[in-house]
Amino acid sequence: MESQPYAYTPTGHAICYHCLVMSDCLFCKIIAGQIPAKKVYEDDRTFVFEDINPQASTHVLIIPKKHIVDIKEATEADAELIGYCHLVAAKIARERKLEKGYRTVYNVGPDAGQSVFHLHLHLIGGRKLGWPPG
Ligand code: AMP
Ligand code: ZN
Repeated sequence: MESQPYAYTPTGHAICYHCLVMSDCLFCKIIAGQIPAKKVYEDDRTFVFEDINPQASTHVLIIPKKHIVDIKEATEADAELIGYCHLVAAKIARERKLEKGYRTVYNVGPDAGQSVFHLHLHLIGGRKLGWPPG
């Protein structure tokens, strides 16, 4: 794992240096506890919270604590972290008993509806999901 300098916010949350620099980023602010969110899970590399506009009974966002704009801006140095986000999604899906099926998705760019520019993996499940997606 890439080593990252950490700092602490006034509320005592650990925050990576990138997040401190990207202080205008909504999801960095959620990680830092500066904007409230319904936290589902947190570890040293990831933060998971309920999507504010859920598209299914389970709709959570898995985000790396490191500020990465999106998958097309990621580098090889981010590969392990990106893979780890998927393992976190699978762990949450197991805990929520989504064995009948779920979807993990990155929206990339305007045509895919990307609206927040901090990498986030959607985990959606709890209902039958159509294919192809809209
Ligand atoms: P995307 O459209 O792929 O960029 O996804 C951004 C997601 O973030 C959307 O599903 C939004 O509903 C969600 N979202 C935006 N603001 C918040 C927030 N403050 N707390 C939780 N989820 C949010
Ligand atoms: Zn960010």
